[in-house]
Amino acid sequence: MGDVLQVDNKKQLLKQYYAAQRMDSPNGGYLMLLGIRSGEDGNAVGIFECSSSSLRYELVIPKATRTERKKVRDVIGAGDDPDCPRHGPSARLIRVGRNLVCTDCGVAYART
Ligand SMILES: [Zn+2]
Repeated sequence: MGDVLQVDNKKQLLKQYYAAQRMDSPNGGYLMLLGIRSGEDGNAVGIFECSSSSLRYELVIPKATRTERKKVRDVIGAGDDPDCPRHGPSARLIRVGRNLVCTDCGVAYART
């Protein structure tokens, strides 16, 4: 396995990722998700492989913002099951240890 490269257009790729749209690769083709790692600092890192070059890229998925945490807390407070603030109703948050995590983001949005 070679080096993992950085992408330049992070904002656009994140948008496509959250919307479950095809993500364009910098080399043509598109980026296929290989896996998500959750980091110690709350950020997660997605590892992608380019469909045409097989180069690997990483994309940092930023940790939950204060606004996102509040939104999730409010849903829990109302007695409902929270969805991922970025992925929407298709992604339920699941309990991992003491955290509520979106498995697609690898990001924790609440603590219980
Ligand atoms: Zn998510």
